[in-house]
Amino acid sequence: MALDHNIVSVSGGKDSTALLLLAIERGAENMRTVFADTGHEHPEVYRYLDYLEARLQLTIERIKPDFSRQIARQREVVQTKWRAEGVSEQVIQNALAVLHPTGIPFLDLCMWKGRFPSMKARFCTTELKKKPIEEQVLAPLLNDPDTQDVYSWQGVRRDESPDRALLVEQEEIGDGLFAYRPILDWAAQDVFDFHRKHGVKWNPLYEQGMSRVGCMPCINCRKNELQAISKRYPEEVDRVAEWERLVSQASKRQGSSFFGPSKMPGSVKGLSHAEAQARLSIHNVVEWSMTGKGGRTFDLIAMLDPGEGCASAYGLCESAAGGN
Ligand code: SF4
Repeated sequence: MALDHNIVSVSGGKDSTALLLLAIERGAENMRTVFADTGHEHPEVYRYLDYLEARLQLTIERIKPDFSRQIARQREVVQTKWRAEGVSEQVIQNALAVLHPTGIPFLDLCMWKGRFPSMKARFCTTELKKKPIEEQVLAPLLNDPDTQDVYSWQGVRRDESPDRALLVEQEEIGDGLFAYRPILDWAAQDVFDFHRKHGVKWNPLYEQGMSRVGCMPCINCRKNELQAISKRYPEEVDRVAEWERLVSQASKRQGSSFFGPSKMPGSVKGLSHAEAQARLSIHNVVEWSMTGKGGRTFDLIAMLDPGEGCASAYGLCESAAGGN
């Protein structure tokens, strides 16, 4: 007899945890819980996933993409195409020196691409979350003749963003594959109440000033959130600064910043690419995050305001809405 399967995607955030609790409460059959690991999460997220596994007596499958093949191909491109284009030998050697897989998905993806994702080119969600779950979890199930339908549980809520307000609770998004969004009409408070009902702690990051859980920081993070991150977790900012060095070295133009020009006001017009990227370095953007409106005076009150999260149709990147 063909079976239905339920795949619950968790991020370590409050919404997907409530989603998981709901799936358990409803006794979802053939349930698997998956976490798309970007390698760009705060250590607290991994600790929280361990806590959930122990508390709920289940296994959370850590799904990771491997970009070794793409990086090997990029090395060939650097040695052939770049040389044919007249790129300087120094730049070629710089790139080859760092173009080796690290096993950290976010970093390897950016080194392969020679740049960081941006609002306009948000390849991070696709490459780090959507595709790995499709390829490693959903496709094998859908190709199995014993599978009837697959339900992809998504912890998105209408009040997070205008895009999410338009979503429907259930829709077929592929042959035999359904998106199921049972907490679409929940408010943030309902989500926290549901944790309490089940005696499950929410991620402690919410009590440390974070309004969202996920990549730290997200390319979309708001000024005040970046300020909070830099104050509480300066080591995460230093990590990204090191990634900027590596990704810059892997890039043909020898410059790439984590945040794009739209993050911080002030023109980069007239600057060379490398100069513009240096100006947009995460340490400079963090410094700007400490200033008040307009970027001129320092803001002494670290307010946390809601921001927009990743608009992944899979709901895998948690929105900034809500709080406790
Ligand atoms: S949380 Fe942000 S940085 Fe991370 S994958 Fe989603 S959009 Fe990209």
